[in-house]
Amino acid sequence: MFKKILVANRGEIALRIQRACHELGVKAVMVYSEADRDAKYIKLAEEAVCIGPAPSALSYLNMPAIISAAEVTDAEAIHPGYGFLSENADFAERVEKSGFQFIGPSPESIRIMGDKVSAKQAMIKAGVPCVPGSEGELPDDPVQIRRIAKSIGYPVIIKAAGGGGGRGMRVVHTEAALVNAVQMTKAEAGAAFGNPAVYMEKFLQNPRHIEIQVLADKHRNAVYLGERDCSMQRRHQKVIEEAPAPGIARKLIERIGERCVAACKKIGYRGAGTFEFLYEDGEFYFIEMNTRVQVEHPVTEWITGVDIVRTQIMVAAGEKLPFTQRQIQIRGHAIECRINAEDPYKFTPSPGRITTWHAPGGPGVRVDSHAYTNYYVPPNYDSMIGKLIVHGDTREQALARMRTALSETVIEGINTNVPLHRELMVDANFVTGGTNIHYLEQWLSQRQR
Ligand code: ADP
Repeated sequence: MFKKILVANRGEIALRIQRACHELGVKAVMVYSEADRDAKYIKLAEEAVCIGPAPSALSYLNMPAIISAAEVTDAEAIHPGYGFLSENADFAERVEKSGFQFIGPSPESIRIMGDKVSAKQAMIKAGVPCVPGSEGELPDDPVQIRRIAKSIGYPVIIKAAGGGGGRGMRVVHTEAALVNAVQMTKAEAGAAFGNPAVYMEKFLQNPRHIEIQVLADKHRNAVYLGERDCSMQRRHQKVIEEAPAPGIARKLIERIGERCVAACKKIGYRGAGTFEFLYEDGEFYFIEMNTRVQVEHPVTEWITGVDIVRTQIMVAAGEKLPFTQRQIQIRGHAIECRINAEDPYKFTPSPGRITTWHAPGGPGVRVDSHAYTNYYVPPNYDSMIGKLIVHGDTREQALARMRTALSETVIEGINTNVPLHRELMVDANFVTGGTNIHYLEQWLSQRQR
């Protein structure tokens, strides 16, 4: 096992990784920007290194500063968390070339999955079902573009090969709008991602977002840890996640889970990963793979009893997965609400000083957050300040626990989306379960104040 790990991230996930290190008896080196200097999780660390000023480009995305921090503190491995440099293949490569272990998959795996066209091609080869679409990148010839769309059938969606974070996508309903839409998406993709390549897929009308968590070691062992339903989204951003997915037969999950495991073995994947699918009419369609730990990993930890972050560290150190697929049992139901510092109606960010932070507790309640009373939420980063996760024997019990936990939660001084979560936990359709990816936005457009 490593003696010391550098945590190349901030906020709740940095604290989550720090906790996993401490449980394993590993020292954690934290890095921080000037905006995060006073955060409590920085003070809790054995060592902490300032890597630059507040803007992420100068700190959490500053590769030389992070690698030097690992050098001066004698860390052996770097955990990238999620976001920032976690899916940057060049970073993973530089980490390894500098003699550190990158806690994640190989740079090659990250590179393949980071380009959605090559990811899809790898998945088709590995037998994972994908959304019907163009074979690879779209050509420039308008005649060919029209022919491809016709064979797929309208509506179609044009997606950037290098896209991410819900950006670089355009839905096209008619042939008249097609060629112009392709050109616009190309231009935007070139400007935003430095890669103008786009591809085409059938636009699924009312899918759910279902994802499969996998873990793999360096000895070609891989398991899947069931699924998560992340259909409650606003602007392609997840708001609520749960596991298992309501109303989907275990047999279907097992079938797709086994495909994901086979794909991991085929591509030599290692570490934690997530296969994201759209699910419609009993069929799964791969859309992308995330090659890192996800925000919503706690719901899976709770229904399987597997500590995903701890396992990431263990497999990076070369250990074998400590369990087999048969030992993975699904128990009960877990729900996560993302707590964002934002206006609960207009969704404008609401950074600033938290004057009261009272977190809920009791059986089946977990709060993953770096915030506390008097914590200052800097305006420079993502608005998520924590996650509230509950577990119950049944979905009904989990929902009841979430309602209670939300009623106990008091956050003052800034606005948060806690009131939104309170409303959603009593919404009849959400309570029934199985809402699709458009449900939350439709609900918001009809919401009464
Ligand atoms: P990103 O990497 O930007 O998150 P994804 O490929 O994961 O991009 O897609 C993000 C979201 O866009 C999906 O969760 C879904 O809401 C929508 N989407 C993507 N592809 C399709 C499709 N073929 N049909 C319908 N919706 C889609």
